[in-house]
Formats: sequence, C-alpha cells, structure tokens
Amino acid sequence: MTMNGDMLIGFSSVRGTEGEQRAFNPASNSEIADPVFGMGGSAEVERAASLAAAAFDSWRNAPLAQRAVFLEAIAENILALGDELIERAQAETGLPAQRLQGERARTVGQLRLFGKVVRDGHFLAATIDHAQPAREPLPRADLRVAKVPLGPVAVFGASNFPLAFSVAGGDTASALAAGAPVIVKAHSAHLGTSKLVGSAIQKAVKDQGLPEGTFSLLFGAGRKLGEALVSHPAIKAVGFTGSRQGGLALMRLANTRPEPIPVYAEMSSINPVFLFPHALANRAEAIGKAFADSLTMGAGQFCTNPGLVLAVDGPDLDRFVEAAGAALASKPAQTMLTPGIFDAYCSGKQSTGAVAGVTKVAEGEPAGERPNAAQAALYVTDAARLLASPELEAEMFGPASVVIRARDFGELLEVVEHLEGQLTVTLQIDAADVADAKRLLPTLERKAGRILANGFPTGVEVCHAMVHGGPYPSTSNAMFTSVGATAIDRFLRPVCYQDLPDNLLPDALRAANPLAVWRLVDGAPVSPV
Ligand code: NAP
Repeated sequence: MTMNGDMLIGFSSVRGTEGEQRAFNPASNSEIADPVFGMGGSAEVERAASLAAAAFDSWRNAPLAQRAVFLEAIAENILALGDELIERAQAETGLPAQRLQGERARTVGQLRLFGKVVRDGHFLAATIDHAQPAREPLPRADLRVAKVPLGPVAVFGASNFPLAFSVAGGDTASALAAGAPVIVKAHSAHLGTSKLVGSAIQKAVKDQGLPEGTFSLLFGAGRKLGEALVSHPAIKAVGFTGSRQGGLALMRLANTRPEPIPVYAEMSSINPVFLFPHALANRAEAIGKAFADSLTMGAGQFCTNPGLVLAVDGPDLDRFVEAAGAALASKPAQTMLTPGIFDAYCSGKQSTGAVAGVTKVAEGEPAGERPNAAQAALYVTDAARLLASPELEAEMFGPASVVIRARDFGELLEVVEHLEGQLTVTLQIDAADVADAKRLLPTLERKAGRILANGFPTGVEVCHAMVHGGPYPSTSNAMFTSVGATAIDRFLRPVCYQDLPDNLLPDALRAANPLAVWRLVDGAPVSPV
C-alpha cells in the first residue's frame, strides 16, 4: 500500500494544514522520510465530530450481527496489511518484529473477542421486572432496562503498544462494539503505523456500508488538536493510555466542559511485587532470575512493569538481590520508543539514584553508541526511606526497579497502606506463606485492580475475567477495566423503560426476545433457549 500523510475523516482523505511532521526511527535516531504527515487542527476536529454525531443513531441501531461482522472485518483487514505493518511499526518504535507480530495477533484476537461479546448480547444487561397490577398497597409498573452507548468516543492511542492499545486497540474495539463512533488522535510516536491501521478500519466501514462518521483518524502536533477533540460537544467519552500528566490534563479539560464527560485514563503504576519469607527461602534465585526477565521485557515499557519489590530484610532477600542483579548484568540495552521516553527514563533513574540511602546494586549491559537504548538498573533501599520519599513511588517507565527492605512484617504492612493505587500487585508465596498473605490481602484489594500469585504482572490476557485497571493514579476510574470483554462497559449507560408498549421497546427487551440474549427476568436469569 502506498501511504500518504493525510488524515482519514470519514471516507475522505484530508491534508492537515497546521504544520507537518515526519515519523521518527528511535533506533537510528533519525526521521523517516516518507510520508510527510499533515497535522490537523480544530477545523478537522469539527468535521470528524460532526460526522460522528450524524453517524451515531444509525450505527448504534445497526443489528448486533452487523457490528460483530464489522469488528471481524477490521481484524481481517489488519492481517491483510501483512509485513508492511510490522516493518513500519518496527521502524517507528524500535520494538522487535516478533513482539509486534505477537501484538498484532493480540489486536486481532481482541477485535474478534468483541465480535463475540456483541453477538452474545450480555453486555446489554437486559433486565425485565414485569408489572404487578394487583400488588398492594400500590401496583407496580412494567420496568425494563438495557444499556445504550454514550455517544462518539475520542481515543488517544498509547506509545508503548502501537497496535494493541492504539488505533484499533482495546479502546477503539470496545467503543465500536458498544455502538459508539470513534475518533482516534494518532500517537505522534507511530504516525505511519496509525495510518495503516486507520485505513484498515476505514475500508471495513466502507465495505460494510456503515455510516461514514463511524470512524476517523486525526493527526495533531502539540496539544491543540487533542484539546479541541476532548472539548468538542459531540464527544461523550474519552479513552486514553499514557502519562499521568497527560491523563490528568485531559480529565481537567473534560470536567470543565459545559457538559463534563468521563475520561477513562490509564496512567501510571509501579506494580509492587511482594516476596514472602518461605518463597524466598525456597527459591530466591529462581524468583530473582524470573523477575529480571519480566523487568526487562520490551525494554520495561509496560504499564504492568514490576517497578517495586518488597520483602522483610534478611539473608534470603540478599540471595534474591544477588540473583536478580546477576541476571540483569547480562541483559542488553534496548531501544526505547521515543527519545522523549528515553530521556524521561534516564532522568527517573537519576532522581532515584540521588535519593539519600538508595543504592544502585546492579545494571544491565551499557548501550555503548546505540541511541535511545535503555540500560536496566536495580536499586535497593529500606522501608523508612520509601515512606519518607514520594519520588521513589514515581513510575520509571523502563527496565528499572527498586527493592525495599522492611524491618519486619509490621513495617511491610505500613508500606502497603502507604502505597498509591496500582494496576497490579504480585505475591511470591509458598504454602507456608498463605497465612501472612491473607493478612495483606484486604489492603491489597483496596490498592490494586489485579492480584496475582507466583507469576509476574507483565502480560495482560485479553479475556472475560481480566481487569486492567485500578485505583488512582493507575487509572482515572477504578470501576472499570481497559482490557478484556467488560472494557465495553465504559462506553455504555443504562436506560429504563417504564410501561412502554412492546413495539416501542429495544429488541433486547421485547417479549419475544428477538436478539436471543440472556436476560434477568423478575430477578432470575433466563436463557434465550
Ligand atoms: P503521553 O505524553 O501522555 O501521550 C499520550 C497521548 O496523549 C499522545 O497522543 C499525546 O499527544 C496525547 N497528550 C498527552 N498530553 C496531552 C495534553 N495535555 N493534551 C492533549 N493531548 C495530550 O504519553 P507517551 O508519549 O506515550 O509517554 C510519555 C510517558 O508516559 C512515558 O515516559 C511514561 O512515563 C508514560 N507512559 C505510561 C504508560 C502506561 O501504560 N502507564 C504507557 C505509555 C507511557 P502527542 O502524540 O502529540 O504527544
């Protein structure tokens, strides 16, 4: 496919006139010559948002089977891009081809999962309470509730997953599945990848005969276009993955609109790993080695990277630190996504290393002459230092982590209580640790969206039971997940219908159940067959 640098607004190719930008190759530290992307501004936001608003009623009322076929068609079109997509993403992100192939499979799988979710119809949460005309002292009306989409959704793709959390990623797939039109603001770190995937979605919209405004892709330099998008009255919700600073800025903007809207922002998390005494005594070396593998995977550029390790001090913790350090020492430096992310990683390490009482105990292989290549690092300090130094809780986005030595279990509990909200917490436990783990669990449930045992948090399965979310600041809204089937709930709201005649009700609530969905009828689940 010959790619140009125009935006995709509905079915049109639109050249932005608010400046030009080329994509950047972080591995060679140089611009990619072709194409030159034209940046958009508020005029393009207006055009895309008007189209999305016009498409909304028609798209949300499209048959569920058509919605599912559309999501599956996007998946097919992405696969049809073949090696061109992988090569472009590799050039723009520095991520290895194998990782990107895996991410493409995940993206395609995610779209297909939402196809299934739409066909099942569970997400509509159809619920019927029949009228009770003879009820005393007052009769009850016929009450029925089902979910409807909020309206057009703005999506800000993530830099660290150029496919699975970007143009056709989880936010877009779940919003489209909900029946919402989507406008994506492409991440400036992978403009060409965004354009390729955006074209795959545009083709599916055209091929399926869907309304033009179902999908648009915009490019914007600086903050202007993103701000105009979040401020536009036609936009009813925002999906974002990125920095805490960026997420908070968009939340503030959304809250000061004449009509405030929800921003589902996934921001920063340091994903504490707890090493319990018996697990450490039995397998400190194995845990240390596996930890180093998890920390350095993908140059540590995962929102679930294990950035903090906590344990009661002692010789077994020393064994862990030694093993993790030895494993890290042979880890090669890896290219990071952008020079900005590399600089932020370096200054994060510098700030951590500068805290009095923090010792750097291990480093990965140096980068040598390679530009933007992250050298892994492991730091150690004590619990009192962590409690007194908020900067040690800041996310170092990259392959660096801090080990915290607690005096005793009581001090460990104090640290846990002090921690900010997290996407994940991990317990390394053996059978004899279960009683201690049980003491920690109630606090951990208040702090994190996912609690895992004897694994590592990197690797987020896309399935029905996944939660990729958590209390602030890991996300802006702990009630939802941005990965997995229930991510669709972020873009839906319930509408209750009281005493409406059958032919005015949405299909999910009609007497004959024409969609054949599971329903809760008078308090009992009823299967469609
Ligand atoms: P980012 O700077 O927050 O950018 C994410 C997206 O939001 C980009 O499209 C960006 O536009 C846009 N944006 C950011 N602030 C905005 C604002 N105030 N108004 C309008 N649009 C705004 O994140 P990033 O570039 O991906 O990475 C920077 C840092 O974020 C990393 O160093 C890391 O600390 C953190 N990060 C965290 C996660 C996570 O999952 N927790 C993931 C990725 C990054 P542009 O494209 O024009 O910049």
